[in-house]
Amino acid sequence: MTDLPESAQVVVIGGGVVGASVLYHLTKAGWNDVVLLERRELTAGSTWHAAGGMHTINGDPNVAALQRYTVQLYEDLERESDVSCGLHLTGEVMLADDEDRMDWLRMAHARGRYLGMQTELISVAEAAEKIPFLVEEHFVGALWDPVGGHVDPSGVTNAYATAARMAGAQVHRNTWAHDVVQRPDGLWDVVTERGTVTCEHFVNCGGLWAREVGRMCGIELPILAMEHMYLLTEELPEIQPWLDATGGHGIGAIDFGGEIYTRAEAGGLLLGTYEQACRPWSVRETPWDFGAQLLTPDLERIAPSLAVGFEHFPIYADAGIRQVINGPFTFASDGNPLIGPIRGQPGHWVACGVMAGLSQGGGVGLAMANWMTSGDPGFDVWGMDVARYGDWTTPSYTRAKVMENYSRRFSISFPNEELPAGRPLHTSSIHDRLTDANAVWGSSYGLEQALWYQRQGADPLEDVTFHRSNAFEVVAEEVHAVRTGVGLIETTGFAKHEFTGTGARTLLNRVLANRIPAPGRMTLAPMLDEHGHLIGDFTVATLADPTDGTETFLVFGSGAAEGYHERWFRARVASHLKTDGAPVTYRPLGHELAGLSLAGPAARDVLAAVAGSSAAGADVSGDAFAFRDIRRMDLDMVPAIVGRITFTGDLGYECWVPASLQQRLFDLLMEAGESHGIHLFGLRALDSMRFDKGFGAWASEFRPIYTPGEAGLDSFVALRTVDGADRDFVGRDAVAAARTTGPTRRLCLFTLDDGGIPTGRNAGTDVLGDEPIWHGGDVVGWATSGGYAHWSQASCAMGYVPADVADPTAPADSFEIEVLGVRRPATRRDEPLFDPSGSRMRG
Ligand SMILES: Cc1cc2nc3c(=O)[nH]c(=O)nc-3n(C[C@H](O)[C@H](O)[C@H](O)COP(=O)(O)OP(=O)(O)OC[C@H]3O[C@@H](n4cnc5c(N)ncnc54)[C@H](O)[C@@H]3O)c2cc1C
Repeated sequence: MTDLPESAQVVVIGGGVVGASVLYHLTKAGWNDVVLLERRELTAGSTWHAAGGMHTINGDPNVAALQRYTVQLYEDLERESDVSCGLHLTGEVMLADDEDRMDWLRMAHARGRYLGMQTELISVAEAAEKIPFLVEEHFVGALWDPVGGHVDPSGVTNAYATAARMAGAQVHRNTWAHDVVQRPDGLWDVVTERGTVTCEHFVNCGGLWAREVGRMCGIELPILAMEHMYLLTEELPEIQPWLDATGGHGIGAIDFGGEIYTRAEAGGLLLGTYEQACRPWSVRETPWDFGAQLLTPDLERIAPSLAVGFEHFPIYADAGIRQVINGPFTFASDGNPLIGPIRGQPGHWVACGVMAGLSQGGGVGLAMANWMTSGDPGFDVWGMDVARYGDWTTPSYTRAKVMENYSRRFSISFPNEELPAGRPLHTSSIHDRLTDANAVWGSSYGLEQALWYQRQGADPLEDVTFHRSNAFEVVAEEVHAVRTGVGLIETTGFAKHEFTGTGARTLLNRVLANRIPAPGRMTLAPMLDEHGHLIGDFTVATLADPTDGTETFLVFGSGAAEGYHERWFRARVASHLKTDGAPVTYRPLGHELAGLSLAGPAARDVLAAVAGSSAAGADVSGDAFAFRDIRRMDLDMVPAIVGRITFTGDLGYECWVPASLQQRLFDLLMEAGESHGIHLFGLRALDSMRFDKGFGAWASEFRPIYTPGEAGLDSFVALRTVDGADRDFVGRDAVAAARTTGPTRRLCLFTLDDGGIPTGRNAGTDVLGDEPIWHGGDVVGWATSGGYAHWSQASCAMGYVPADVADPTAPADSFEIEVLGVRRPATRRDEPLFDPSGSRMRG
């Protein structure tokens, strides 16, 4: 056994398929002083008993891209390492048993187009040619993916490790990292019984033990292991002709209705299930003495899935069962991997919760290596970033959500679906009032948020669908009420980041790409990384203490990205303080600052009625309180921060108050609004109104893979101070360079020419996001989001297309957007559909 080194640039903890891939990809990225520590033998966690199946299709196209990379990597990896991965690209048939599932497959097929995936929608008869033992009457259609197949999990892990070793990495087996300690100099000590390795970075690839490794550093990772079973039949002579015709390995199939996957294995068949009666494993902690063991099979639990399987594939009914494998593996609550840096702990990285290590491990390894070596994962990893979860994800919440996710693994996730487990969790203080108003609730970042308000007397429930739901007409009324009078929406779910201290203005001027406003003003400000990529879009407000002028900065952003932005802010504050910057205190305000927003032409009258009845009697007239002004106001005994801005593109105000005063302010505003017919509106109406204006939103239009030039945010990036001097902010050089060449793609607003009302099953279908955009017979871009703009009466989409076809001088009407398999003519809109001059907002 070779000695452990005393130090390394990176220590990877865990020698499953994920840890081995991270190690390999670090060496590929040029970091060779890297060490992997494995408690026992490589694969001694969940990897050794995996069924080895791999797929490229995924509902999230970014995960699909990662899976495609992984599958494509294996041939190169075999060549490089000279270790067989047992790769069999058999292709895979995904079977739909009803039209909703077929819609989902159409959507996955269309989304795959701009990733260059060669999937094909096929008939049931064509599916039966590929899988001769299925019963056609149970299915309505299928998707053929020629790239799916299976690999040997242990071969893959060893191939990664061998190739990494050849590039200089060290792999130490039988080396348990039983503690990880951060040193005063910021480095990490990874402590084992064979010695301590001091490193700059460590990566938690602990798989089944990732929670335990996280706890060594005081964090609770939101993952949980679930038991999973698959069975292997005896040899089946009747499938031999099929095996002969397919090169000996058959073809894989996923039967979504039956919640099963199947493929050939050793002359027989393999069948696995994601059953409803699922069971978590080792809920509190994973025993360190658990090794290459299997769990006791429990066929009773999977009996309902087997019954459907036997009906859909009768060959199984008479087949002898050779072995049942039951093993645990870990999931995050949305089924996506959990990767990236841990906020507030520089050098601590995770790559865990990878539930499909053979499909995703390669892409995860690549993204991690890019991220660690260059600061940019190089993929769109938003949906996999560990920062998508915050401190609200307790182990009990994780358990509820992971069980829900497991049992729905093969269920359809509808775009407007809100899953019930673990809810309601956080509620604001006006929750009961909004419930009385018949709110239909959704949840984001742990907080219940009103999506829309069902009519009184009807159940506050939304039909889940790929098409327009029962919310459509009601949301139209909410939009109408705002645009013609006044509406009130709760905005507590927005993220609010507070910066104070004498160094705060300097820090924010360096961190944000726009000039930080004068006291009493707000501005829009993107945040960029060093590569000039968009890592945030914020509204920044400056408030000054009336007595001594001390400034407080409030940075408002996406609620779902609160943890993501907190990680950036903490890192920027830390490096500012390290370089002796003046003091800064940063605090995410979470739900302690609650929000209510008024919008619509009568919004001023409502605010004036409340402000005017206060002893202080604030003047909120257009001249005294202009667009993007912000100030503290006494709203009839409620000390509020009021900013003149809304996301509706209308006249409007956002009022921020301590959570304990939100009820009072709500009652005051509703009472004052009564004579103006004030109407509650929810997030669905807000979304509809942003399409009127072509406003982009974080996580759809604005993501870390885009630049401000591409996203149309250049006007909010100030290269110079008001005096004409160069500003020095993160990403400036990259932005300045990009401006000289101009973007190669650009965000555009489109309307569907049929208004979203074609005939047949697609009647009333709007763009959902991630659909391919066609131009001149080719897929040239993708939609980032879509919906119906009720006020403008237009079915809208936003999306990125090449700059030449985005240019206002190019024809606007030669686009098509493929929605659920139908290419629908679309027109580029070069100015907002509503109030293009902005007079409603500014007036
Ligand atoms: C029955 C079953 C079937 C499956 N089928 C498939 C499939 O068909 N396709 C697919 O893609 N996936 C499948 N999976 C899932 C797959 O197994 C996982 O996605 C994958 O194994 C995750 O790999 P990992 O490296 O993250 O974790 P693990 O394999 O659990 O590896 C973690 C490693 O870290 C080591 N370790 C942990 N803590 C320490 C420490 N402190 N010090 C040193 N070493 C440590 C452990 O010993 C272990 O070797 C299946 C899983 C099961 C159970």
